[in-house]
Amino acid sequence: MAVSILTMAAGASALPAAAQSAYDAQFVNYPTYSGDDLELLVDASGTHFRLWSPKAQQVTLNLYDNGRNGAPYKKVDMTFDPANGTWTANEPGQLYGKFYTFSVKQDGKWLDETPGVWAKAVGVNGKRAAIIDFSTTDPAGWAADKGPAVDNFTDVIVYEMHHRDFSVDPSSGIANKGKFLALTESGTTSPQGLATGIDHLKELGVTHVHILPSYDFNSVDEANLPSNQYNWGYDPQNYNAPEGSYSTNPSDPATRVKEMKEMVKALHDAGIGVIMDVVYNHTAENDGSNFELTAPGYYHRHWDDGRYSDASGCGNETASDRQQMRDYIVNSVKYWADEYHIDGFRFDLMAIHDTETMNEVAAELKKINPSIFVYGEGWTAGDSPLAVDRRALKENVSAMTDIAVFSDDIRDAVKGHYTAAEDRGFATGKPGNEETVKIGIVAATAHPQVDYSKGNNSKFPYAMSPEMIVNYVSCHDDLTLTDKLRKSMPEESDSIRQAAAKLAQTIVFTSQGTPFMFAGEEVFRDKKGVHNSYISPDSINAIDWNLKARNIDLFNYYKGLTALRKAHPAFRMTTAEDIAKHLVFDKIDSAKQPNLISYTLKDHANGDAWKEIKVVFNGADHAQEVNIPKGDWRIVAIDGKISPDADLGAMQGGKTMVSPYSALILAKLK
Ligand code: CA
Repeated sequence: MAVSILTMAAGASALPAAAQSAYDAQFVNYPTYSGDDLELLVDASGTHFRLWSPKAQQVTLNLYDNGRNGAPYKKVDMTFDPANGTWTANEPGQLYGKFYTFSVKQDGKWLDETPGVWAKAVGVNGKRAAIIDFSTTDPAGWAADKGPAVDNFTDVIVYEMHHRDFSVDPSSGIANKGKFLALTESGTTSPQGLATGIDHLKELGVTHVHILPSYDFNSVDEANLPSNQYNWGYDPQNYNAPEGSYSTNPSDPATRVKEMKEMVKALHDAGIGVIMDVVYNHTAENDGSNFELTAPGYYHRHWDDGRYSDASGCGNETASDRQQMRDYIVNSVKYWADEYHIDGFRFDLMAIHDTETMNEVAAELKKINPSIFVYGEGWTAGDSPLAVDRRALKENVSAMTDIAVFSDDIRDAVKGHYTAAEDRGFATGKPGNEETVKIGIVAATAHPQVDYSKGNNSKFPYAMSPEMIVNYVSCHDDLTLTDKLRKSMPEESDSIRQAAAKLAQTIVFTSQGTPFMFAGEEVFRDKKGVHNSYISPDSINAIDWNLKARNIDLFNYYKGLTALRKAHPAFRMTTAEDIAKHLVFDKIDSAKQPNLISYTLKDHANGDAWKEIKVVFNGADHAQEVNIPKGDWRIVAIDGKISPDADLGAMQGGKTMVSPYSALILAKLK
């Protein structure tokens, strides 16, 4: 049945939003409520509750003194408004310090208590919502707090990190290990005296950190933190409250709010933006999720036989194409942008959402702050009842304004396929990936010299603009770059592998689009070969900061890459037309010289101070010859060294040998 729906819908974009299947038909003309006072509003007149649950027969509000344990001190029958499907109750006074849940009766059955879907503060483990005075949670100077202004999203350099990975190891020298507050500590060092924490980020030169899920997730027992449980956090429980295990006191609902804001403030003060990983595409539980306990059957997609559909591969998927869910996603990101000053959102399995929702997300966020960067995984992890042409797929990115997608093209072509540990790529000597790397270099835009029919993953220029593409070779998923290099180059030494790592990241950082890196790769961090470390212990996931001294040459190279990119707009063009005009590939016969790419950024591309930049990548295990036009060239990168000021010497061009696994970058200053 699913297949026939997909087939029917794929060519029929005019299909009405709420009637793509028999299951969906029940939600046509469904009452919705878009006000921003859902579930809880505290004002001078009292404490007001409003739960959206159109098909409930009865709803009870349970009020508690504590965040867990004990019976409610009061139960209140809520009143239904059929016009918008909400149930309301009003209590006198400001009930700060109290907790609440809702109990919903539907189809003759009372469901388990739920804190609702809009809890902005919660008790330990998130089972009860908390009533707190948010005005007390702002750090000093919060009203004036602002993330970095971003003119073009190609100016952003993303550093993807997990709170616990980043600071939990004793070698971090950080006091608040594994906490939001870790990122507020300056002056921390490794045992060798090198900067760690926020100082390390400043030194590295990234513009934004992308924090793995930091909303309240399900898996870590917040009441038993000494057990040191680990989880990436892709198991959402309360979307609008921070995760308790990252706070110093999960039992106090205000502490996690305050500490997350302090983290944001410290990063902003350091000139660094904060991007949050958001996972609206599924919930940790099915029937036990807060969505299901408040409005059963509504928020998740189902097949027509009533089963949960599962495009997330985690047991269910949400239904952004239904109005109340779409509003929920839009209002939730707006809330994080407003209340926490978040500078960007990374959408997990974004293609589970529809393009219309993603466009609304970007448009609404832009009204709050035009510098907010939205990007996501342009794929699903399974089939969905949502029509293919409506999915926020990588291939549909040109239908989305101000949204970027990850380029799996460049990722797999540079280092080898993610599903095969031993597979090599362009930067590690495997021929046949040249054209796909070029797709990455031009940010999947149309370019007269790129033959998309030879692309490994994508067969057409799917991005209308380089601002729609995020380039990377690795992230929290799959093997770290270090592990990938160790598994795919088993005979080589780490120094050869580091040469390949430098080449791989040079390709990412010089390509058009937005570069993205995984925390710790700058110090050659590994995860002991574990590719899916979502629940692995610290011994696998923690970054060992002793590596920074050991691999300082690699770290300095990464520093050079960020500095080069920031200083030279030629690597950060903003239109496909500019790229087609100013980026010219040299003719190289890949059959005769595999693993070799050479191109020029010409005529002060994108207003660059340098007249011409020559970029050559040799991913072969032997030196290869290129013909550099005669001229006064300054050397920017050669043999694993990089200088953003082009002071590695001079070169006159002509036949030039490029070392194995290395990048050669030259600049003609005028
Ligand atoms: Ca939690």
